[in-house]
Amino acid sequence: MKVTFVGAAQTVTGSCHLVEANGLRLLFDCGMYQGHDAARNREPFPFDPQKIDYVILTHAHLDHCGMIPRLVREGFRGHVISTRPTADIARHILLDAAHLQEEEAEREARRARRRGEPPPEPLFDVGDALAAMDHFSLRIEYGKELKLDHGVSLILHDAGHILGSGIAELRAGGRVLVYTGDLGSWGRPIVRDPSPAPPCDLLVSEGTYGDRPHRSFAESVAEFRDAINTVLGRGGSVLVPSFALERTQEVLYVLYGLWKKAEIPRSARIVLDSPLGSAVTRVFSKYADWFDKEGRELFSHPENPFRFPALSVTRSVEDSKRLNHVGGGYIIVAGSGMCTGGRIVHHLRHRLWREEDGVVFVGYQARGTLGRAIVEGAKTVRIMGEEVAVRARIWTINGFSAHADREELLHWISGAEAGQVVLVHGEEHALTALAAGLASRGIEVTIPSPGDSLEL
Ligand SMILES: [Zn+2]
Ligand SMILES: [Zn+2]
Repeated sequence: MKVTFVGAAQTVTGSCHLVEANGLRLLFDCGMYQGHDAARNREPFPFDPQKIDYVILTHAHLDHCGMIPRLVREGFRGHVISTRPTADIARHILLDAAHLQEEEAEREARRARRRGEPPPEPLFDVGDALAAMDHFSLRIEYGKELKLDHGVSLILHDAGHILGSGIAELRAGGRVLVYTGDLGSWGRPIVRDPSPAPPCDLLVSEGTYGDRPHRSFAESVAEFRDAINTVLGRGGSVLVPSFALERTQEVLYVLYGLWKKAEIPRSARIVLDSPLGSAVTRVFSKYADWFDKEGRELFSHPENPFRFPALSVTRSVEDSKRLNHVGGGYIIVAGSGMCTGGRIVHHLRHRLWREEDGVVFVGYQARGTLGRAIVEGAKTVRIMGEEVAVRARIWTINGFSAHADREELLHWISGAEAGQVVLVHGEEHALTALAAGLASRGIEVTIPSPGDSLEL
């Protein structure tokens, strides 16, 4: 077996690793680079897409599935292997990404034409995303071995990261390779706790938060509650910029719990204003039997975190616009999570300058985004070409992360019986800090550079 670390080597996004085993060529994920690394999405693949037999997709986040449409466009004819929820969610994520790529290409084309240059092609379009979905032809269940050709087989274990996420265990010629995809955090709602690592010859682990701890989930819920009560108590409304996948469903879960126990006013109006968030939430409803024990119990009732009297879901742009004219008492959950687009941008323009309102950030804000500027205390920000004063109260809650933190990673990796350990999916400082922590427990690890290979 040979593994080549194509993407997410010393960086968080762009997960993609090539495995060659018994004459088969497989990819562990085929994800998109985001933020600062986005230009790398246009680089040629360092392998021939026509010669890839399988893509093993660990979960539906864009940084793991986002380049599958391009792979298909460039000749991939094989199968994408995933769990059922991952395939269903990926459809929404890829179509949304394709729309955004088309819009961006359209904008770029206008600029290029003005410069007298040829317009750029979108990275992929809606047609490519739909074609990609035709390759999602193999479903896998947790713990059940899937036999591929040439004596290679695959088992997926629950990664506890987002709905349907898996840790891949690949077996070939008596060798075992384990790849975490993204590893979840323990004790979170909806998802189950991550499975222990199976014994293996090589463990490829993520290390996103290898350098820091998270605040506990319970503390984060209390912070969220206090922020909401402060704002609603002053007659304002709360904006919650939220990622459509997993974070939105968790936020609804938390809000339902607070509302049910009257820890926030029972009169609060909670609005989900995110077309992608609503679509993904509908997929979650379909897979309630995949939730953890508590989640299954909660969702066995007609009233549950996705359906309760205080919650409404916008159906149209008009519904969304109407929210601009409501006063206080509202909690508006909208995308995008880092305020780089979507309906949250409109809500911020209408509310950021109002002293009585509040914004609660519940996810990571990358450098260069509107969300990051607000979190870092900008006095004014530019929204849709207009200067807007930041007078609303701002909160940042860090404990809703879907990733294992430093302690959890150290515990999980050192509990694995692994011949070799390789760290990926993390900034360099996070991975070196994690490597040092593991070294003090007697585990030596490798941190590959992009393009490095390892022979098993
Ligand atoms: Zn992920
Ligand atoms: Zn990831």
